[in-house]
Amino acid sequence: MTKATSIVARALTSGKPHHAQWLVTRRCNYSCAGCNVWKEQDDRELPAAEIKKGMDILKKLGIVELVISGGEPLLRDDIGEIIDYASKLFLTTVYDNGSMAIKKMDCLRKADFVAISIDSLNETKNDSIKAVPGAWKRAMEAVETLHKEGINVNVTPTISQKNIYEIPKLTEYFTQRQIPVYYSLYSFDVSAGKDQLFRIGKANDEFMITDKQAMVKLCDSLIAMKKRNGRIFITKRLLKAVRGYYDQDKRVWKCGALKNFLVIDPLGRIAGCHSHSFVGSVFDLPKKWDSQEFQILRETYSTCAQCNYLCYIFYSLEGTPYGHLSLAVDQWKNARRFFK
Ligand code: SF4
Ligand code: SF4
Repeated sequence: MTKATSIVARALTSGKPHHAQWLVTRRCNYSCAGCNVWKEQDDRELPAAEIKKGMDILKKLGIVELVISGGEPLLRDDIGEIIDYASKLFLTTVYDNGSMAIKKMDCLRKADFVAISIDSLNETKNDSIKAVPGAWKRAMEAVETLHKEGINVNVTPTISQKNIYEIPKLTEYFTQRQIPVYYSLYSFDVSAGKDQLFRIGKANDEFMITDKQAMVKLCDSLIAMKKRNGRIFITKRLLKAVRGYYDQDKRVWKCGALKNFLVIDPLGRIAGCHSHSFVGSVFDLPKKWDSQEFQILRETYSTCAQCNYLCYIFYSLEGTPYGHLSLAVDQWKNARRFFK
């Protein structure tokens, strides 16, 4: 069975998780404001051979899309081996803060998507958010170089109060150059228990979106822009859900943690999302997935409203066979490119 056929078969099977994020390292070379990772680095990591065994389990479980992130995942010496294996089994997205993509370009050739984080077209502003001088230049150069090399690179700004007004301009800038844009949304971890799987976001007033009507307007703008711009990688349904959340404080989605998606840390431990306590390891999944323990957790998470990380809203809304069909319609041009 080809990768595309196998992925379609999994995507259309109900009752299975379809998205997983593997945070393959807790090391990072940046020090972004609003992030805990660089303050609490840890070099303990599962070796590539174990990660590959874990990926086999994820495939059997039904995972369609695997996101490889961190920390900065490209800091791993064995990242090429990990991406190579993942890309045979899943739609594979690799995140990079823009610092390593050129150095590790050959490792990225097989990835389906490479997401580079750029938060502003203003160099000074971008570098102050990343807290690293030169971050903007490196990231812009990485995007340009990967695009020229035919690697499916996209730009992923994190929308926050710092850059909310310039997101349409940033979107136009890259998509006019044939570079797709996806988005993250500034959020932070509320529950920070000692067993929390992976501490990422700390609350930061400067980033918190206080101008809620600006967010509503941004969602409207992106919905309108999508009609003539096929390189905006966010679905209309997701934009409408986010719009409703900021306009009326209404969550039209139930969180699908440990149902539609799961998260794995550098040691192979798993949780519904990074904010909650770990509940076993990737190697326990075959026996735990249908257990009563997981069923109870799923029900608890489905009523949780602690975060608004955009990826989790996306998986909750679209991570079902129906969601995948509407996603294929929404992203038809891009889907055709993948299945060619
Ligand atoms: S946001 Fe990403 S790049 Fe920035 S410090 Fe955290 S893990 Fe590193
Ligand atoms: S809303 Fe979902 S993803 Fe967010 S903290 Fe709760 S369980 Fe995790």
